[in-house]
This record gives sequence, C-alpha cells and structure tokens, in this order.
Amino acid sequence: MPCQPPSIESIHMASLEAALAAVAERTAREGPWRSGAFAALADSGMLAAFVAPAWGGTGLGEQPITWALMAIAERCLTTALALTQWAAAVRIISGGDDGVRAAMLPALARGETPTTVGISHLTTSRRHVGRPVLAATRTDAGWRLDGLCPWVTGADASATIVTGGITDDGSQRFFVVATGAEGLTIDPPMTMLALTGSRTSVVRFEGVQPTHVMLPPAGGARTGGLATTALAIGAARASAAVIAWEAMARPTLETVADDLMGEIDALAARLMGAARDGIDPADRDRLRADANGLVVRVAQAALTATKGAGFVAGHPVERLVREAMFFLVWSCPQAVADAFLCDLTAQRPPSGA
Ligand SMILES: Cc1cc2nc3c(=O)[nH]c(=O)nc-3n(C[C@H](O)[C@H](O)[C@H](O)COP(=O)(O)OP(=O)(O)OC[C@H]3O[C@@H](n4cnc5c(N)ncnc54)[C@H](O)[C@@H]3O)c2cc1C
Repeated sequence: MPCQPPSIESIHMASLEAALAAVAERTAREGPWRSGAFAALADSGMLAAFVAPAWGGTGLGEQPITWALMAIAERCLTTALALTQWAAAVRIISGGDDGVRAAMLPALARGETPTTVGISHLTTSRRHVGRPVLAATRTDAGWRLDGLCPWVTGADASATIVTGGITDDGSQRFFVVATGAEGLTIDPPMTMLALTGSRTSVVRFEGVQPTHVMLPPAGGARTGGLATTALAIGAARASAAVIAWEAMARPTLETVADDLMGEIDALAARLMGAARDGIDPADRDRLRADANGLVVRVAQAALTATKGAGFVAGHPVERLVREAMFFLVWSCPQAVADAFLCDLTAQRPPSGA
C-alpha cells in the first residue's frame, strides 16, 4: 500500500517537478544553477521550506521535506544532490548566532545567494589521515583557514561555502566563507562516474578569512541522515518507472514492476515514519543500507528489462545505473558501508556491531 503524501501546500510540487523534468538534460550537463533548476526550487517555495519563519522561510517539518526530496530525486538526482548540500549549509547556519542568521537566512530562503557545504573531512572523508585536513587557527586578526575541502558540490556556482575546521585544541568550528575570498581556490569540477553536473570540486584554503564563525551544530556534523535515504528512494522510483513503462508492452514484466514498486513503497513508508517519529542511529543506518541495496537492485532490474538498448550511452537507464552507484559512496557512514558490504557478501556483522 503506497504511503500517502503529507500536505505540502507551501511548495508548488507539480510545477516544480515539471520544471525539473524540462531542464533535466541541461542540468546533467551544466548543473542546476545554470540550467534554471535551482531557480525553480526557489520559485516553488522549496528553499524557503528549510528556513524558519522568523528568518523569512516557511519552516516546513521533516516529513513533508522528506517527501519532497524523494519526488525531486525521482525527477533529477543532480538537482536533488545540490539541494541537499544547500540544505546542509542552511542547517548549520540556522544553528549559528543571530548575526549570521540575519545576514544569510532571508536571502537564502529567497534563493538569491547560492550556498553549499564542505564538511565531509569531518565525517566520511580522509578520516584515516592523521592531521586535520582543514585547520582553523585563531589569530589577532580573527580566524584563518588552511588546508582543503575534498568535496564541495556546486562550489564554483555558489557565493559562499559552509565548512568546518579543526582548531589548535582539537575542537571543531564551523565557518561561512565567501567563494571570492582571498586565498580560496576552487579546482575545476571533477568528472565522475555520474552526477558530473553537480560541479563537485576540491576547494583549497590558504590563510582564508571567513565571514562568519559558528559553534558545531547540535549533535555535531551529521552524515547519512534521512535526506540521503530519501534521494536513494527517489532514484529507485525513477528506475522502477522505466520497468513499469516497459511492462505496458511486455506483460511478463508486470509482476517485476509491481513487486519492486511495492518494495519501494514499503521503504518509503519506513522513511516517512522515521521523519515523523524520529529514529535511533542504528535503525537510521539500517534504513540507509536497505535503500542503498534497493536503488542498486532496481537499477539493475531496469537495465535487464531494457536490455542492450539500456546499455547504450544516452539511454535513461544507462544514466540511472551509474547514478545508483553514487549512493554507495556519498555521505555513507562506516556503519552503512559495513552493513552494505555484509549484505553483498552474505556475512554477518562482526559480533558486537
Ligand atoms: C558526487 C559527490 C558529491 C559530494 N558532495 C559533497 C559536498 O558537497 N559536501 C561534502 O561535504 N561532501 C560531499 N561529498 C563527499 C561524500 O559525502 C564522502 O565524504 C566521500 O564520498 C568519501 O569518499 P573519500 O574518497 O573522500 O573517502 P576517504 O575515506 O578519504 O577514502 C579515500 C581513499 O583513501 C583510502 N582509505 C580510506 N580509508 C582508509 C583507511 N582506513 N586506511 C587506509 N586507507 C584508507 C582508500 O584508498 C580510499 O579510496 C560528495 C561525494 C560525491 C561522490
């Protein structure tokens, strides 16, 4: 039984989904900032949904936002990725003091100044390296940042980056940095297996002075949250839709399409329950690992159904298969990676895990 959408009156979902679909090809090539997809997010009220009413947003709850993220990812995963990175930056800024909130949130809610986040070096990237990848030092002139952010989606399309550094005493501080700041260099966007349109770059810092400093957000820098699972479910839906379309001419595929759609709906219901009631970290990781498994399996089923035609570059399924791989590496806490590897090898997790 498909779960019912929550009421999301403040977001014009139908026109947003149509706008994203209309520019999806351009978005995949040039990124959502140039294709108009990001502007469509702002126009629809989607950006305002992440910002509290006190700062010019509509402050929608986690459940409707999660639902909207699934729908956006189904239409355009590149835009959904850019949106989650924008939202992660907004979440950190929202935990800052009134100065940074007043300076940034109203313009962000209106979609006027694109921002993004580079915090993976504090959570899931370069954790095995002994010294901090991005050092934050307090000087007489204020803070300075030295080092790099290994992954920043949309860095060259954003006015600011929200990042985090490690201080001399080993604690974390978070910063807003203008992309035009002296000493900041954005490498050319990486060419990747998929989602190259996300314009994801390494960003380098040499004595960069941030515009705002913030304490770590409540609970620290988070990774592998419900939004990442929402995107995986949306991507799985896009693959299942292809199978359903093929099934219209090939009845033998009907059961496959129905079974997979049923599995996706059941996972979406678990996700929506978690967005409504909360979820403990172990169950959240299990949900994400299940979503990772599902998005890969449904993409493989779509490829099997579309046969060689789906294997040819430019076919939607060829892209969906590549995009499914993204979930195996993006914002993937070690527990999720371990659970997925156990599933792949049919192993039990190490005792006590
Ligand atoms: C398309 C895309 C967009 C992204 N956008 C953003 C973004 O906007 N903001 C953001 O903050 N993050 C972003 N990320 C980062 C993402 O969330 C993860 O942090 C990232 O994928 C982790 O991969 P890594 O190669 O950096 O991991 P690492 O752990 O640094 O692994 C790199 C390599 O190091 C070696 N290695 C790893 N662990 C060990 C170990 N224990 N011992 C020895 N060697 C080891 C392996 O050879 C591995 O290949 C993005 C990722 C992708 C793929």
